[in-house]
Amino acid sequence: MAFADSFDDFDGSRDFDSPFLKYKRQRSKPNRLKIMGITVTLLILGICVLMWSTTPRKVKQADQLKLQQKVLNEPLQRRRRKMHCDPDPPKQNATLVMLVRNFEINDALSSMRQIEDRFNRRFRYTWTFLNDQEFTDDFIRLTTGMASGDTEYGIVPREEWSWPDMIDRQKARTNMEAMEADEILYGGSLTYRHMCRYNSGYFFRHPIMMKYDFYWRVEPSIEFYCDLNYDPFKFMKDNKKAYGFVMALPEYPKTIPTLWEATQRFAEKYPQYIDSNNAIDFIVDGHRGLKGDYNKCHFWSNFEIGDLNFWRSEAYLKYFDWLDEEGGFYYERWGDAPVHSIAAALFLPRDRIHHFADIGYKHSPWLRCPTDDESYYSGRCLCNREESFDEHMYSCLPRWFAIAGRSKGSQLYRQSY
Ligand code: GDP
Ligand code: MN
Repeated sequence: MAFADSFDDFDGSRDFDSPFLKYKRQRSKPNRLKIMGITVTLLILGICVLMWSTTPRKVKQADQLKLQQKVLNEPLQRRRRKMHCDPDPPKQNATLVMLVRNFEINDALSSMRQIEDRFNRRFRYTWTFLNDQEFTDDFIRLTTGMASGDTEYGIVPREEWSWPDMIDRQKARTNMEAMEADEILYGGSLTYRHMCRYNSGYFFRHPIMMKYDFYWRVEPSIEFYCDLNYDPFKFMKDNKKAYGFVMALPEYPKTIPTLWEATQRFAEKYPQYIDSNNAIDFIVDGHRGLKGDYNKCHFWSNFEIGDLNFWRSEAYLKYFDWLDEEGGFYYERWGDAPVHSIAAALFLPRDRIHHFADIGYKHSPWLRCPTDDESYYSGRCLCNREESFDEHMYSCLPRWFAIAGRSKGSQLYRQSY
């Protein structure tokens, strides 16, 4: 049987060299070769695909990273450029000034440390310290050590830190006691009144201040939250600014019952000092001008960057003398903040007053933080924008924005500096 025979033949155990197996062997040789060939081809293809797929992906990632870095690091690059330490930085004719008592040394150093780290170590402006008492050696040693530039120490002349002769001391004392009983802040303090009068009328003409055009007032125990990547004094000078502030709020009415009425009389007598483009709408609501009531809004003067020559101007000096003769620094408790603010609002064109929107700052109990992202991120700010005083119900800043607009000056300036 051919079939049976061939079937038997199929069993290789019986006949290893059967023609079928021979045929199979012959067929399988090229098959294996083929399989090997296909495997090698696949392998090569696989490697190619792998190379093809990984190489472009790497390039893509690199592109993306570059793009992100460009977006994210743009302010950082700008920052790095400014972190250099120029051995002889170009400077304006300006000083940082602090009126301070010896016992406030730690709070003074804390303020200095922050202003130095965030700004002054790149510019090394001189620190000027003023005091009604002699500074202790310790105070001088520690503040000299903290400053990146020079330090100067001035004693306030006795007559500038005491009540003028025309003040009825008995009347002043009686009023102080009443204000103390009424729990008005610093209502019973005589030294606080000396301080307010000094800051209103004298700090800018102390002999060691006379050589400067611009000042930055710093108080002990403030917080300075952001890098200031440009020179605010140069900004003030280039843009003809005379007064710079960060926060604005209303004064306690009981400390200034007759300040506005005294101002109205002054303005009536000296109308020539009132600027035609003044900022009176910031301090009087409803466009009622000098006839309206003072809304008590003032620039918070514990921070000020200003032109000393404005305080030395005829208009301001006349105004200060007028107020001094009224006696309100002692009979009431007129603060230097409303005095400076009213003067700036009346005697300056409004565009010479500047809100430093890019400064993060705290003087207890209020803080403010830059609202725009550019200032906040490139300034490496350490403040919570949600706690910012700007939008608080007590803040007078919305009134300022309403008359002057939001300031963009320093932002533009920073980019070009
Ligand atoms: P506040 O900010 O209105 O609460 O008042 P501060 O107590 O902070 O005083 C305002 C500034 O004047 C700070 O820089 C104080 O260090 C300074 N100051 C206040 N009283 C005196 C004083 O009697 N002598 C001196 N040398 N400085 C004073
Ligand atoms: Mn203070």
